[in-house]
Amino acid sequence: MITIQNYINGQYVPPAGGHYLDNYNPATGAVYSQIPDSGPEDVDTAVQAAAAAFPAWAAMPLEQRHDILRGISDGILVHLDRLAEAESLDSGKTITTARTVDIPRAALNFKFFATALLHFASESYHIPGALSYTLRQPLGVVGGISPWNLPLYLFTWKVAPALAAGNCVVGKPSEVTPYTAGLLGEICTAAGLPPGVFNVVHGLGPRAGEAIVRHPQVKAVSFTGSTRAGADIARIAAPMFKKLSLELGGKNPNVIFADCDYDHMLQTTLASSFNNQGQICLCGSRIYVERPLYEKFKQDFVAAVKAMRVGDPADPGSRLGAVVSKMHFDKVLSYIELAKQEGGTVLCGGHALAMSGRLAGGWYIAPTVVEGLPIQCRTNQEEIFGPVVTIQPFDTDDEALALANGVPYGLSATLWTNHLRRTQRFAAELQAGIVWVNCWLLRDLRTPFGGVKQSGVGREGGWEALRFFTETKNVTIAG
Ligand code: NAD
Repeated sequence: MITIQNYINGQYVPPAGGHYLDNYNPATGAVYSQIPDSGPEDVDTAVQAAAAAFPAWAAMPLEQRHDILRGISDGILVHLDRLAEAESLDSGKTITTARTVDIPRAALNFKFFATALLHFASESYHIPGALSYTLRQPLGVVGGISPWNLPLYLFTWKVAPALAAGNCVVGKPSEVTPYTAGLLGEICTAAGLPPGVFNVVHGLGPRAGEAIVRHPQVKAVSFTGSTRAGADIARIAAPMFKKLSLELGGKNPNVIFADCDYDHMLQTTLASSFNNQGQICLCGSRIYVERPLYEKFKQDFVAAVKAMRVGDPADPGSRLGAVVSKMHFDKVLSYIELAKQEGGTVLCGGHALAMSGRLAGGWYIAPTVVEGLPIQCRTNQEEIFGPVVTIQPFDTDDEALALANGVPYGLSATLWTNHLRRTQRFAAELQAGIVWVNCWLLRDLRTPFGGVKQSGVGREGGWEALRFFTETKNVTIAG
């Protein structure tokens, strides 16, 4: 049994209350580790360590700060295999996904922001007899709270820019997938990060997470997770006038026109539907296909989905692994039942998968395609966040836009067409923070990332993240 500890002031320490939570391996359903059930006392200890470390970290020459963050990036790559195994064990994602997507991206997050901090500059304005310039100063102690679907990837997507901008961080990874964030402390220490600059407090959202949001010395909170928790955090933080970045849920449309490059679209749509068991906030869970292409797409797509291999996450040959927890497994299955009750036809999947041997207690769901549901039903309105997609034909551009925009969410949208004017119209009118045309999940870390409507407030990525993690001050000098 592994015991994960908090990482505070450069040391691994037990929670003040001495209580731990069980942490499960989704592939087997067995408890494999214990994590601290931290509370306000632990958060306060971490905040005090961060506050003490802040003046020196903020004043450190940029090149030195760069070297340390770059060292963390290198350290993540040195430990790639160990981290990938930990991520797969903890989350049920395939080892291949962890090794090729999650861990390399976590390293890249540090590398990208290490470099960015060297080039982050501010504006100046000259008028006769005066000069105004902008200072962008670090905030102090900031909080980062992340979800379970891309554990180290999304945790470092907050921690790296916060540190790059000169802040000290108290981070809380998801209690469902705490392992790799737990290992990050070692890597930071080895890279020479001064004690207290980065701290990890494990535990439940409403206890440890909320304590970070409520702490008066925490100046900003960068949160990625559900819309429900985002609303709770906003309610707490708003009267305290904290800066908030909220990256929330999605129900992304995938709009496919008959003039698309078919083979590329089909392969990408399989990935955008079922990568990471459909547990990526950017997965396209509502697929709309122009009617002339609909029957062909349906036949090819369903045949390819039936051929996807669901299996042991540790087996490099598995295309899908386990879903992340028993609670999530039950939730996804309940949505499949709902889809049937709402009149949907299950074209493939639609059930849990019984595995044998050591996997018998694990949480596996067959990739599921549902047809025949109207836009207003709950299956098409609510985030399922699992290996379940709905498909539907459309006839006109107006209808496709109305379907794509007809949900409360607006994170991303994918469009498949080679028609230039249509592309421009959809790019402008799709209600989403991110629009992919003839591609999916093609990410340039310099671009703004975030959602509209109930998918969130604020943008991450590139300069947006460095601006979020700094306070802007205007200085005017007459002379
Ligand atoms: P969640 O909201 O349950 O938890 C996310 C994190 O917030 C966890 O660390 C949790 O402990 C913490 N938390 C929960 N309640 C809290 C509270 N009241 N105060 C402070 N912290 C709290 O989300 P989840 O189930 O871990 O993740 C899945 C969700 O995340 C999905 O809705 C998905 O769309 C979303 N997500 C969004 C993005 C994005 O970029 N927009 C990316 C990944 C995941």
